[in-house]
Amino acid sequence: MERVYNFSAGPATLPVPVLKQVQEELLSYKGSGMSVMELSHRSALFQEIIDSAEKLLRELMDIPDHYKVLFLQGGASLQFSMVPLNLAHGKKIEFVNTGSWSKKAISEAKKLPNVLTSVIASSEDRNFSYIPDIPAPSKDAAYLHITANNTIEGTAIFNVPKTGDVPLVADMSSNILASQYDVNDFGLIYAGAQKNIGPAGLTIVIVREDLIGGSENLPSMLDYKIMADDGSMHNTPPTFSIYVAKLVFEWIKAQGGVSGMEALNRRKAGLLYSYIDESNLFSSPVVPAVRSLTNIPFTTGDAELDKAFIKEAFEKGFVNLKGHRSVGGMRASLYNAFPLEGVEELVAFMKDFAHSHEGGKVHV
Ligand SMILES: *Cc1c(COP(=O)(O)O)cnc(C)c1O
Repeated sequence: MERVYNFSAGPATLPVPVLKQVQEELLSYKGSGMSVMELSHRSALFQEIIDSAEKLLRELMDIPDHYKVLFLQGGASLQFSMVPLNLAHGKKIEFVNTGSWSKKAISEAKKLPNVLTSVIASSEDRNFSYIPDIPAPSKDAAYLHITANNTIEGTAIFNVPKTGDVPLVADMSSNILASQYDVNDFGLIYAGAQKNIGPAGLTIVIVREDLIGGSENLPSMLDYKIMADDGSMHNTPPTFSIYVAKLVFEWIKAQGGVSGMEALNRRKAGLLYSYIDESNLFSSPVVPAVRSLTNIPFTTGDAELDKAFIKEAFEKGFVNLKGHRSVGGMRASLYNAFPLEGVEELVAFMKDFAHSHEGGKVHV
């Protein structure tokens, strides 16, 4: 079976050994005669899956016991509302605006009654091509929200701001488990699974225990406390996605955990960036010190040539290299499961392409 190099920003490429195991176990999970998709979420077999998924994630991210790990639905986008509903308590929320996803988080929070928002740092003045200096949040803020990795613009916050007693909340959708972070620096971390963890439909929330509860009359499905008390099974959880996530966690552990993944991601991103920087044709819009390891935008500076590149790349089996519609150009998403060889081959292809299109002209 031919597999392509899939540079999609999400849903994204998954480790082949995981897909194979899913295939092997698809019709009958552990001799049950049922697929995981057909198991009751109240069965012992599924309880074992969700318990070990949680245990593995705790191990991989070194999550302290006083944090809850929740397996929810609604995507990272639902967290744009769920975090303020649970954590704002009528206080002001402060934001760092570093891109399209930060802006969505801000605009969703603004829609809620009794929620005040304020942006304390932004890189919008230069197209989100850098990470701004982040001042200390106000003492009376409910929390400070950051986007740890800007999936569309290709920047990342590697140096997490120290926020003292004000909890730090991070949208880690596109770099959870790809870079090492200290969970102790955060009050809450959330991430949609479909980029670096598994299939769409699952959202991970890691939240400090003392921050949940105390929000009156929240709908049950939006209440972290209820979800935590019910072990993420207040209703039917996304069972199949949780199962695949568990297999991905096992795979990451076997690759040397998050530090192993980060080392590999640095090699992959380094290969691509160093070619982009030496190339006369391709360039990166992002300030070097804050370049994302997982989402790498680049361009020829000529929309027609970008189009030709994307088309030729596709024909050679490098798929989903088109940049987000809001920024154009190209974007290579190099999540954990994306293989090093894929980056080596992409760079070789880029060199060939540059050679035959130097100066934007086609040489025959
Ligand atoms: C993809 C993405 C989202 C949206 O995720 P959904 O799961 O589709 O809601 C939010 N934030 C970031 C940083 C993302 O990369």
